[in-house]
Amino acid sequence: MAWDAWGDPAKATELSPTLLALVQDLFKVSADDVPSVARDEVRLTPSALTADDLAALEAVVGTEHVTTADDQRLPRAGGKSTLDLLRRRSSAEQHAPDVVVAPGSDDEVLRLLNICTERRLAVVPFGGGTSVVGGLDPLAGGLRGVVSLDLARFDTLEALDETDLMATLGAGLSGPRAEQLLAARGYELGHYPQSFRYATIGGFAATRSSGQDSAGYGRFDDMVRGLRVVTPRGVLTVGRAGAKNAAGPDLRQLFLGSEGVFSIITAVTVRVHRLPETKVYEAWRFPDFATGAAALRAVAQAGTGPTVLRLSDETETSLNLATVEDAGAGAESGGCLAITAFEGPAELVEVRHAATRRLLERHGGTSLGPEKGEQWAEHRFDGPYLRDPLLANGALVETLETATRWSNLLGLKQAVTDAVTAGFAAVDSPALVLCHISHVYDTGASLYFTIAGGQRGDAIEQWSAIKRSVNDALMAHDGAITHHHAVGADHRDWMTDEIGAIGVDVLRAVKTALDPAGILNPGKLLP
Ligand SMILES: Cc1cc2nc3c(=O)[nH]c(=O)nc-3n(C[C@H](O)[C@H](O)[C@H](O)COP(=O)(O)OP(=O)(O)OC[C@H]3O[C@@H](n4cnc5c(N)ncnc54)[C@H](O)[C@@H]3O)c2cc1C
Repeated sequence: MAWDAWGDPAKATELSPTLLALVQDLFKVSADDVPSVARDEVRLTPSALTADDLAALEAVVGTEHVTTADDQRLPRAGGKSTLDLLRRRSSAEQHAPDVVVAPGSDDEVLRLLNICTERRLAVVPFGGGTSVVGGLDPLAGGLRGVVSLDLARFDTLEALDETDLMATLGAGLSGPRAEQLLAARGYELGHYPQSFRYATIGGFAATRSSGQDSAGYGRFDDMVRGLRVVTPRGVLTVGRAGAKNAAGPDLRQLFLGSEGVFSIITAVTVRVHRLPETKVYEAWRFPDFATGAAALRAVAQAGTGPTVLRLSDETETSLNLATVEDAGAGAESGGCLAITAFEGPAELVEVRHAATRRLLERHGGTSLGPEKGEQWAEHRFDGPYLRDPLLANGALVETLETATRWSNLLGLKQAVTDAVTAGFAAVDSPALVLCHISHVYDTGASLYFTIAGGQRGDAIEQWSAIKRSVNDALMAHDGAITHHHAVGADHRDWMTDEIGAIGVDVLRAVKTALDPAGILNPGKLLP
């Protein structure tokens, strides 16, 4: 992955002339005002580890799996949030982990954690490096140094049971590699976040990720049947029997979403399904967002079973961010675009599709046919490539997300829009706020915002101030601090509001029980 941008450098894109003109005219910005630094000019904090520390780590995993080289520390210096990308552009010394270590077995992980405990070194687990909430910030938390613990060598399909429809996947497998290994046997996991091409199985579990097919296959935490985790206290396997049980609180829930603070996840057992026989897409137009949201609610509550169900608001529809090529081309149709997809055996797909169509029509939807849905599917992972040229041309672009109950959805959307608009207005810039619903439940839904305005002065300070006021607005209007991006360093100050002081104490007590020296991912999740 590119060190200072999203994704595959070969897929880097430019802004279309229409979009470039829009950005320059609307935000009054120019590429000349944006700082940048060439890779060979980047300066990293020097490694704080001693030769003795390195020798101890090497004794566990071998010299070839321990490195302090800058070209390995730099890509593990953070994730892929806009703040991360802005930090990468700095010509000042950048914070980076002191060493990168890649263990290959649970036993090696355990021995590394023991060494780090003894030597007071913080451990930041590294999966695909796609965190957008500061989950990978190389924070030492008062310890002597930071070890980036790369899970890349946990890369096998450990088991597939075709009777139980369960697979055990190594935590370091990327989304595509996991699906490739399963597809070779005729199965699919069906977890497709927009970061799918890079994010890992362990990362999905550690952040409670949600994929674009969540309406049909559920969030990642719905898919998990068991986890193998290594803590400084020892190795733990949770979710023993595969089926539901009543043996006290479900310990899997302690590790799902624990963001490397309680353990290193080394393997995840998930439910899988047979590769779908049929896939059918259909796009819809709704006159406005409120009408479309009511239609999505009707479908979610009736349980008619689409695999994908999403709705863009008027602004997102008009900018048509469905494809990088079309961005800025303007909508042909107005209103709000919705996408549905159905997967599975042909007979079932037909029934579920017909029932969903009836509901959407009854709630004010007009079918646009399959084409726009198929287009969305073809380009579903491309959108993030637009952020880099937008940043380079002086726009400040970021995404954020939340969730709430249906009855609160429109009010929360307005509150976030107002907070963003006020934040940009304070530095004399207009703002564009695009929104969509992409994860629905019978009781509520997520809201996902893409935000753009003009960079003014220190863009890191500028975004941090806007983000703080958005987080406050989420809390004031009953929104979750996050629906699927997780907490990391960026949301931790709002965790007491989210789960209460006693809730925070419970998590701290778990942390103390599993990681008494506090070496695991300091500064994340827990306020
Ligand atoms: C362009 C883009 C689009 C995105 N789209 C989505 C989306 O659609 N849905 C979604 O849910 N998220 C999305 N994300 C966020 C991100 O991809 C997810 O949080 C993902 O689950 C992170 O996986 P990863 O393997 O990259 O983990 P990393 O970024 O490497 O790590 C994330 C956090 O988990 C910890 N961690 C990682 N692996 C382990 C492990 N094995 N054991 C213990 N802790 C671990 C890390 O220390 C860190 O705190 C997106 C991000 C980007 C940049």
